[in-house]
Amino acid sequence: MDDSADQAPDTGPQGIPQTDQEWRERLNAQEYAVLRQAATERPWSGAYVDTKTTGVYRCRGCGTELFRSDEKFDSHCGWPSFYDPADSNAVTLHEDRSLGMARTEVRCATCDSHLGHVFHGEGYATPTDDRYCINSVALTLEPVE
Ligand SMILES: [Zn+2]
Repeated sequence: MDDSADQAPDTGPQGIPQTDQEWRERLNAQEYAVLRQAATERPWSGAYVDTKTTGVYRCRGCGTELFRSDEKFDSHCGWPSFYDPADSNAVTLHEDRSLGMARTEVRCATCDSHLGHVFHGEGYATPTDDRYCINSVALTLEPVE
């Protein structure tokens, strides 16, 4: 009997897939397309767009805490939006010039999975004026009572 099936992905370096095959085994097809191939889920399609549940959002790829519900805000853009990561070291930022746009890609600092993009100066009434626009399938919400 396999009692590990219901548990979240392992955290820590040992828990990070090392090969493409291991990533395909860990993730479903949509998760793989987003996290490992930088696809973007359709706007308004994600599980967490309007979620208000108190909790922490962990990386779907490795389980690292990435964002918190109290830094999530209603951007009305169709994707879960946060004004700050849980920890500035939790994510890495990369220049992205795909699709003819200059954007800043956000990746998990632990497993290097694609999460979404960050935009700045859009005029949202948030403490940072940053909008981390993150794919729902890149995240797993862990509710906190
Ligand atoms: Zn990760």
